[in-house]
Amino acid sequence: MAATRTRVMHRSLRETPPKAVGGEGVWLIAEDGRRILDSSGGAAVSCLGHQHPRVLAAIAKQASTLAYAHTGFFSSEPAEELAERLVGHEPGGLGYAYFVSGGSEAIEASIKLARQYFIERGEPKRARFIARRQSYHGNTLGALSAGGNAWRREPYAPLLSPSFSHVTPAFAYHEKRDDESEAGFVARLAAELEAEFQRLGPDTVAAFIAEPVVGATAGCVPAPEGYFKEVREICTRHGALLILDEVMCGMGRTGTLHAWEQEGISPDIQAIAKGLGGGYQPIGAMLASGTIVDTVRNGSGAFQHGHTYLAHPLACAAALEVQRTISDEKLLDKVKERGRQLEQRLIERFGNHRHVGDIRGRGLFWGIELVADRARRQPFDPKLKLHQRIKSAAFAGGLACYPSGGTADGQRGDHVLLAPPYIATSGDIDMIVERLGAAVDSAL
Ligand code: PLP
Repeated sequence: MAATRTRVMHRSLRETPPKAVGGEGVWLIAEDGRRILDSSGGAAVSCLGHQHPRVLAAIAKQASTLAYAHTGFFSSEPAEELAERLVGHEPGGLGYAYFVSGGSEAIEASIKLARQYFIERGEPKRARFIARRQSYHGNTLGALSAGGNAWRREPYAPLLSPSFSHVTPAFAYHEKRDDESEAGFVARLAAELEAEFQRLGPDTVAAFIAEPVVGATAGCVPAPEGYFKEVREICTRHGALLILDEVMCGMGRTGTLHAWEQEGISPDIQAIAKGLGGGYQPIGAMLASGTIVDTVRNGSGAFQHGHTYLAHPLACAAALEVQRTISDEKLLDKVKERGRQLEQRLIERFGNHRHVGDIRGRGLFWGIELVADRARRQPFDPKLKLHQRIKSAAFAGGLACYPSGGTADGQRGDHVLLAPPYIATSGDIDMIVERLGAAVDSAL
């Protein structure tokens, strides 16, 4: 990292990152000419890699036609087409798409629509939300209230909404007891969720919110089999909504367009973002069931929410072309195939590594967790900042990956998240694991 300071307020106020000056498929090009293999697309964003010609052409075409028109006056062709493509066939009953600028906005919209739905249904008492510890739903205050990541919440705790409570995550590596079967673990989590509904009063709960595969805060954690069926049943039985946050794990990342397809359930409201536009434009969306939208339509007639850049035509045009490309080029098949290869390579490289405790994921969405002691699943001391050392070593070795730190309570260790572009070749996957292996070993 360069020491020189610039006027941009960067994430770190002590270090200025090098400039990225170009991109080419799975590669990012730094200002000094170095080519960096992008193994995580930032935070699982760049699903088509960089500078995909189809998407660049679609953006240029839309820019030359119409860059912006306020949604208070107009709709646009790309927004209508994108919505038709996403929900025209009503997947899982989701019939409407509300386009925003990113993941946090999609979560804010989801929370507010759930609340407004119950007001319009004549159930104004429903104002509580149940979420999970170790989840991440975004950094705006509503989304942060839903999130369960203690470190991110701590400085802002006085500003966060007390309407959110948190239950145990479906994180088998740390939460399942040694003497417990997977089914027993699921039953215990379901009982805890049921107890939380009872504690709050079931008729006060608007929704349960969860990531089908937890991304940033825990490092690619899919739930054990049957967990989401239990969750869906509990929400339905109590008349509460199920909001699924697929901002990171959605839009093909796990091998199906929506991660919930693999759980045999569907949500009432869903948030998507990163893989929707693949980073070509800032865009996210809330997908909502027809029942919810019809209730509001037949009630007040309008969703009491909005932003200046709703359904931005350029962003929708970019996302539309990203989604067309994924289906025209059958990239979900590639996600499955390369995903199996990535899993295999990670097991070969780290399966017997004395400091890798867990290898987990789905599709092209994988995480490894680093532990000081494998037998006891004991994370490294967070003060060692192992994840940052891995990030620096990887970058020096020409690899951009997404490491995150462990927690002081030991409920999560340092981990590295991988989310390669769907266009990655078999050689790219091998190179990712090779470079990651070298970085982990040199950082330890
Ligand atoms: N939800 C999940 C699951 C995420 O992973 C993220 C971002 O990492 C968000 C919400 C917030 O999205 P954004 O950073 O686009 O606001």
